[in-house]
Amino acid sequence: MSVDRSQISTLADYHMHTPLCKHAEGLPEAYACAAIDAGLKEVGFSDHNPMAEIFDDWRMEYQQFPHYLDLIQKVQAQFSNQLTIRLGLECDFLPGQESWIKELSKHADFDYLIGSVHYLNSDWAVDDPDPKWASRWNHSIDDIWQQYWDLYRQCAASRLFDFLAHPDLVKKFGHRPEGDLKRFYEPTIEVIAANNLAIEISTAGLRKPCAEIYPSREFLELAFKADIPIVISSDAHHPNEVGSDFPIALTLAKEVGYTNSARFHKRERTLVPFDS
Ligand SMILES: [Zn+2]
Ligand SMILES: [Zn+2]
Repeated sequence: MSVDRSQISTLADYHMHTPLCKHAEGLPEAYACAAIDAGLKEVGFSDHNPMAEIFDDWRMEYQQFPHYLDLIQKVQAQFSNQLTIRLGLECDFLPGQESWIKELSKHADFDYLIGSVHYLNSDWAVDDPDPKWASRWNHSIDDIWQQYWDLYRQCAASRLFDFLAHPDLVKKFGHRPEGDLKRFYEPTIEVIAANNLAIEISTAGLRKPCAEIYPSREFLELAFKADIPIVISSDAHHPNEVGSDFPIALTLAKEVGYTNSARFHKRERTLVPFDS
């Protein structure tokens, strides 16, 4: 199954960051230019959400939030003839913080909010590469997976978001429990479908130690059977990651049976066929 540039142009990369999060490089203009070069007609910025109080060192401060909104508005205007640029936000789901996300969502006319699970508790993010956490994985991989998927289901059930990011991020460093992983996937798919959410096929996993798209093919097959819409995103933290490996992700999506991907505008979802 092959894909060509005209099919890539029917996708929208909705997961792109800005330097405000302190671990991404490049101005929004550079991401927009890269998107045009990649053949995309629509993208969206979705930087990591600010927290009410200083929480970690990889997101914008709350005081910078107006600057983020301003930055995106400027790049939207600058590229209005060549590229549709949507306004999004990647929100960390933390139980008990739901009202904060609700509050943030009122600050602007967002096109979409992405729900992400990085933190299993307030001090440990499963995707943190800091070697000080490496020993956590020496035991209890099963427990970590249980906790992760339990939070992912809570995130899906929160009704705060339009789509969910990198579904099996917990595999980032290649740690997988023994046995059939459907025991994690099936109940999760059920909650995602029941809440009418879309999921992201993220090519970021290809750039990580697991060297695999998020989510696994098996998860995606279950998602397709449950009629869960997809978006294909890069999670770009640098302009040269915009649209990266989209042909690989699109091929996977088509092999699984998908014929379209979702678009978001002012939190309304539509589906655009790959052959449009
Ligand atoms: Zn990031
Ligand atoms: Zn991201």
